[in-house]
Amino acid sequence: MRKISIFGATGSIGQSTIDLIRRAPEAYDVVALSGGHNVAQLARDAIELNAEIAITAHESRLPELCAALAGSDVEAAAGARALVEAASRPADWIMSAIVGAAGLAPGLTALEQGTTLALANKESLVCAGQLLMRTAAQHGARILPVDSEHSAVFQALVGEQIEDVERIIITASGGAFRDWPLADLKTATLAQASSHPNWDMGQRITIDSASMFNKALEVIETREFFGISPEQIEVLVHPQSLVHALVGFRDGALMSHLGAPDMRHAIGYALHWPHRKELPVERLDLAAVGQLEFRTPDLQRYPALRQAQDVMARGGLSGAAFNGAKERALDHFIAGRIGFLDMATITEQVLEALEAQPGLIDASMTLENVTQVDDLARQAADQIVAQRTG
Ligand code: NAD
Ligand code: MG
Repeated sequence: MRKISIFGATGSIGQSTIDLIRRAPEAYDVVALSGGHNVAQLARDAIELNAEIAITAHESRLPELCAALAGSDVEAAAGARALVEAASRPADWIMSAIVGAAGLAPGLTALEQGTTLALANKESLVCAGQLLMRTAAQHGARILPVDSEHSAVFQALVGEQIEDVERIIITASGGAFRDWPLADLKTATLAQASSHPNWDMGQRITIDSASMFNKALEVIETREFFGISPEQIEVLVHPQSLVHALVGFRDGALMSHLGAPDMRHAIGYALHWPHRKELPVERLDLAAVGQLEFRTPDLQRYPALRQAQDVMARGGLSGAAFNGAKERALDHFIAGRIGFLDMATITEQVLEALEAQPGLIDASMTLENVTQVDDLARQAADQIVAQRTG
């Protein structure tokens, strides 16, 4: 039996992971499941899967979790420290599917134990890519990508040498507003930004898909994960979301990965790696699909993509500043305090402000320094919003 844990178990990726586990419960010994406010769901899944421990991120929710787990053998815990403690428990495989920078500390802890980390939480690579990769190397741990594009690249690279790679192309659906006139984006509402044309995902990543902040994070994730230079990474808008990524080699060959837009493809690949097992996903009928379209993204429509280039050029801890500012800008958009286009203005201003602080962005990449930059970026974003809303 493989010992596994799922962080962010109540979310979209977490539930898809549980769906796969549930199909072969005899193969897995579940150590920890974590969630947030959805305590009832967390308790239900923890009892069903006979987990050792269930953790809610929110300490105020602990009594509720204890009550929901009463009579079972599942331990209850709450808060960021409890998450890290649970990540330190021996396991063979951990799914990192918390949304946001909060996924970084448990992920790092898992790597320090030598545990294989299936990484959906792209924010941790954006904030602290070198730290994660270094920690994995030091402890002989493996990071397996779960983002669909990165899983696609990873699969296209099987048996290849990274030196032979000329370019990596990741695709983007273009999100909810890809066909909207640019002028209308200013007044785009939360409800409009929260519906994705192809993928069924958590609300935050869905909005990030409409703004392409998600793709901006993924470009940085590509650089950190595969260690190639920013000039070798391209983004193509591909409205059908069937080709997830392409790898171009020095002989001109392009290898691509196609699949239905179902995250169980990438989760299942990471779960069963280095083997392939049958997965309950739709088989593509390309004749029925008929046509695949690709186009270059319009950087005016998607300023986040340009900002990702700036972040990679600046290096250091600018990824943590970018992500922290993005997370807070998104909070403010969800709360109705700012407009859709204001999010990119805020990230731009926060990056400028933090990069101007002597020594901050160039400090060494430790969890402490990354957390400090993340905090400062959130505070700077809050200040900008407070000034605007006056
Ligand atoms: P989601 O919002 O559906 O779920 C997020 C999970 O994280 C929940 O379990 C929630 O309780 C937990 N959580 C939220 N805030 C937390 C905090 N501060 N501390 C601890 N736990 C917290 O999100 P999702 O769509 O499943 O995405 C999860 C991660 O996977 C994100 O990093 C996202 O970018 C990435 N990802 C998601 C998809 C997708 O299809 N949903 C695809 C690729 C990558
Ligand atoms: Mg993706």
